[in-house]
Amino acid sequence: MSIFSDMPSKSLGFIVSVIGDKDINTLWGCCQRGVDHVLGTGKAMRIRTTQFLLATLLMLASVGVLYFMRTVGIENMGDVDTWAAFSCGGLVVIYVLIRSGFSLRMADPSLAFVQMLYAIACNAAAFDIAGHGRGVTLPILSVILMFGMFGLSMRQVVFVALYGLILFGVAAGYALRHLSTDEPVELFAAYIFMVFVVLSATTVLTWRLQQMSAYMRKQKNQLALAFDKIQQIATRDELTGTANRRFMLEKMRDEVQRADRTSLPLLFAIIDIDHFKQINDSYGHHGGDRALQAFASLVQGAIRGNDTLARWGGEEFVVLLTDTDMSVGLVCLERIRAQVAEADIAVGDKHFKLTVSIGVTQYCRGDTAENAMARADAALYSAKAQGRNQIVCSEALS
Ligand code: GH3
Ligand code: MG
Ligand code: MG
Repeated sequence: MSIFSDMPSKSLGFIVSVIGDKDINTLWGCCQRGVDHVLGTGKAMRIRTTQFLLATLLMLASVGVLYFMRTVGIENMGDVDTWAAFSCGGLVVIYVLIRSGFSLRMADPSLAFVQMLYAIACNAAAFDIAGHGRGVTLPILSVILMFGMFGLSMRQVVFVALYGLILFGVAAGYALRHLSTDEPVELFAAYIFMVFVVLSATTVLTWRLQQMSAYMRKQKNQLALAFDKIQQIATRDELTGTANRRFMLEKMRDEVQRADRTSLPLLFAIIDIDHFKQINDSYGHHGGDRALQAFASLVQGAIRGNDTLARWGGEEFVVLLTDTDMSVGLVCLERIRAQVAEADIAVGDKHFKLTVSIGVTQYCRGDTAENAMARADAALYSAKAQGRNQIVCSEALS
């Protein structure tokens, strides 16, 4: 399909009818390749070369204005050719350094600081050779300094301002010696004063801008931290650090859909700590909390990375075992049961042991997570009834 087929423009239609749809596409492709060649294709390189292109346009505008003034006879400007060659030559060198990737070896691959110093030097020279028309170099100086507002550090900006003052001081001293009789010295002094104003105002504005951007960066970081915290609160159990019930419900929905789609086995297991009330009674609520934490980290370490453990409520936990059939799942759950039974739980100087009962079921295609959980719960009930510290599979119940 033509890239222009969805553009109903009449003029475009006319061009297409004259040179042909296919030729236009070829031409367009060539243009794109040309642009890629000049500006580069990588995102970072593209930013650097585009920025350079803007600076080049500014330099070309300055060159154009000076030639215009010479053409209309505002000033003779015998040095303008040398100046233009020098200015454009420097740009070519900077472009080659950026586009070749050579500038990547430097701290600032965009060479923004170097470009700025070079542009100011050219601008100061233009101030000198423009004679009566030297006023045009002031807005150009402002735009050059604006480029630095976004890319340079505060220290660099202060350096640029001092450097600008020195260069314009030298240029002014030189210009003063060759000042033509019909150029009022007061007007010349006003220009110099404005150079000083532009350089110092830009420095102050950059300082303000950098303060604002530092403040915004800080706010962005604080927002990112707050977002992380909210997400943590919304999805994690505060006591044990495992996923919480809300997270697990969503995970179950996703995994059920995935199991329906892929037909891969999915297991739901409920793990309940046996006689946990007695732990609380014997070691206090704090002891019970420590036991829950120790239990959770033990189970978390015993399951695979893509299985999910969540605290379902109280001393009851759910494990979702993805892509796992019952025989493999039972081995994993038995490992958990045995590890818990063997673990020595320490609360202060007291030590005790825990056991767990586990109910497990396999998700059946087309079923719901709620149904699967009901089956696992029935199996858990059966494990409790049969004496605890054991695993019952829901299939064994039917
Ligand atoms: P069973 O073997 O039948 O599961 O007996 P059990 O004592 O474990 O079960 P029961 O439901 O009778 O008691 C659960 C206890 O878990 C009661 C409750 O105080 C305690 N519990 C629930 N949440 C927490 C908690 O966050 N911290 C502490 N320390 N205890 C909790
Ligand atoms: Mg219990
Ligand atoms: Mg319970």
